Amino acid sequence: MSHPAIRPDSPNPIRGRTTLGDFELTILSDGHYFLDGGAMFGVVPKPLWEKRAPADEQNRILLGLNTVIVRTGKHTVAIETGIGNKLPPKLREIYGAQAQLLDAFAAAQIRPEEIDIVINSHLHFDHCGWNTTRTPDGRIEPTFPNARYFAHRGEVFHGRLQLERDAVSYISDNYDPLIASGQMTLLETEPGETNPIVPGISVECFPGHTDQLLAVHIDSAGQRATYISDLIPTTAHLDITWVMGYDLDPLTCIAERKRFYQRAIPEKWLVLFTHDHHTPFGHIALNDKGKPVIA
Ligand SMILES: [Zn+2]
Repeated sequence: MSHPAIRPDSPNPIRGRTTLGDFELTILSDGHYFLDGGAMFGVVPKPLWEKRAPADEQNRILLGLNTVIVRTGKHTVAIETGIGNKLPPKLREIYGAQAQLLDAFAAAQIRPEEIDIVINSHLHFDHCGWNTTRTPDGRIEPTFPNARYFAHRGEVFHGRLQLERDAVSYISDNYDPLIASGQMTLLETEPGETNPIVPGISVECFPGHTDQLLAVHIDSAGQRATYISDLIPTTAHLDITWVMGYDLDPLTCIAERKRFYQRAIPEKWLVLFTHDHHTPFGHIALNDKGKPVIA
């Protein structure tokens, strides 16, 4: 299996490192990609959002693809797996996808074989792309051969419906082979409910972006970090009403952000952002106008 070398002009694929209690967190990137700025900010007028996320001549903004590796001492967990190498060439070109996650693993000296748990917050193609790898001879293989994968059963069900609205977001090669082989466990976490995965790692269902979006909580020595995924995709989306055009239920997203902030702000959770290339994590506080900002 060969992977394109990191181009000299590309940014560091290791986007950050930190510790949380006894755990080590490393943020690896599958590279950046581009999406329409209007779609990313829903009904927010462009003169407001472009101050935070400048658009190119095609109105696209740059987004990151952050995978978080958590070393708990007992387990090595990968949260989210980027876009991967299975996008059709035309889509790869439209998104400017770089498919560099395995280079990021190499740069961080983490072997895919070390990962024993993979968690997908949901099954949109930009969150589970490296679950599997397409080999040069066209086979689909698990990228993390020794891992148990976790995703929500409702996401698989929704993806298989292939609805007009979001069929393009679901690429079955990212999960069907893992379900068939028994390597992927399907969760049935209800909205608002929390499910333990391994000690110190759990998932909580925050619906809105999809009906079963899972946030991943990381808890060690009384500290918490949360990968909030597409409920709050970047630090430009902290305002409660700045939800995405992609969200299936924007009103639920607003209510769920409020529910998240009610604990994440006073309890000083470290928030990990799925699509923020420049600020992969931070603490959230309220400014003097009562608006959520990075502390
Ligand atoms: Zn999504």
